[in-house]
Amino acid sequence: MELHALTVHEARELLRKREITAVELTQAILERTSLIDGKIKSYLNLAPEAALEQAGQADALLNSGSRAPLLGIPVAIKDVISARGLPTTCGSRILKGYQPPYDSTAVTRLREAGAIILGKTNTDEFAMGSSTENSQYFTTHNPWDTSRVPGGSSGGSAAAVAAGEASFALGSDTGGSVRQPAALCGVVGLRPTYGRISRYGLVAYASSLDQIGPITKDVTDAALVLSVIAGHDPQDSTSLVGPAPDYTRALIPEVRGMRIGLPQEYFASGMDREVESRVREAISLLESLGAKVEEVSLPHTRYSLPTYYLIAPSEASANLARYDGVKYGYSADGKDAWQLIRRTRGQGFGPEVKRRIMLGTYALSAGYYDAYYLQAQKVRTLIKQDFDRALEKFDVLVAPTSPEAAFPIGEKKKDPLEMYMADIFVLAQPLAGIPAISIPCGFAGELPVGMQIMGRPGDEEKILQVAYTYEQASEWHKMRPPV
Ligand code: GLN
Repeated sequence: MELHALTVHEARELLRKREITAVELTQAILERTSLIDGKIKSYLNLAPEAALEQAGQADALLNSGSRAPLLGIPVAIKDVISARGLPTTCGSRILKGYQPPYDSTAVTRLREAGAIILGKTNTDEFAMGSSTENSQYFTTHNPWDTSRVPGGSSGGSAAAVAAGEASFALGSDTGGSVRQPAALCGVVGLRPTYGRISRYGLVAYASSLDQIGPITKDVTDAALVLSVIAGHDPQDSTSLVGPAPDYTRALIPEVRGMRIGLPQEYFASGMDREVESRVREAISLLESLGAKVEEVSLPHTRYSLPTYYLIAPSEASANLARYDGVKYGYSADGKDAWQLIRRTRGQGFGPEVKRRIMLGTYALSAGYYDAYYLQAQKVRTLIKQDFDRALEKFDVLVAPTSPEAAFPIGEKKKDPLEMYMADIFVLAQPLAGIPAISIPCGFAGELPVGMQIMGRPGDEEKILQVAYTYEQASEWHKMRPPV
């Protein structure tokens, strides 16, 4: 038995029966990581000693009969999510050496549930990107083909889960960064309804879009982890009121009579033929299981990219103003405050982050605010209304997660617009605030393909049920990369 390949629920059962120990599981994953992470480069920071110490404590609790939901399960955390005792760099030089003095709420809840924090995973700088190539430290490699990107910005987390360097991981999704890397690495990525998981301790990129999400090997794990980290948090004023349900109850293998909409705009020309075929085959499978499938139109889809790239940079330009060389991390020399700030930001931020700050500052400036930012907010409402209308008629909408499988490292790095296009199918859901999950649905050549299931706000249960039904009828989630 390869311990590093176990899902969360499989490992949990063996741990509870005391057939394996948390120390053995953690050790196996750490050994696996030291063997392959030179190639994959998932982790910015690994904390093996702290992890083994936590594992020892977990074993003691397991021996005394504790049934904490994630007791003894090793997790990797995207490096934009604060965890006490570990550096949080956001993949940026500007936060080099910064250690948050507190845990994010998601990490607090993982710790309370008994999970073991392995370390922090690579990300595009401040989660801006689709490939991890914007990380100021190094690029993560796709475990299915190490000459290709793992997607982004949560590429380190997705690669770690796919390669067996963690039992599961947390990512963050502002405009697709949980779902797109999950698709490109052949794992499950869930973006919940906006406000379902607390953003407290998640380093802000675009606050009206940012959500933490689990990256897991299968749908059961996604439901398990979501149940632990979701729920109201008084520390986040945008957090949804009320406790989160037990999402594992939604794991019912049944789609008979369910209405599934296929947004025609998501099957656009220009997407990879094989990707489209895999997704259509998956939809046929759902149909054969009794779902009623019909086309639907989301007419404002084509505005999601320009709308996102006005709103996200605008919010980012405000959020990133706090990195001035005084409060956090890196600080350059300067003869006065202004020079210190200018130099710190000039040297500390990478080119993509600077591009976004300039774009956002421009869109928010007097004279352009109405023409760009305000207009984008209005179009955002139209995009949301498209989903409201479609989801009145349909239980869920199904589409590809990404227009293509993992692309070669370097291919899109030179052209920001081409890179932005990689997220063309995952930008509208955050703008609308709706939940969506990406699950593996086959291969294009040797590379995994992801199918995206979108639902009504607050209805994570429905997308989990459809995803679970598909998973039970397929084998894709059991495939592991050759690395
Ligand atoms: N690729 C998108 C961006 O660069 C999405 C990133 C994200 O979801 N964090 O903004």
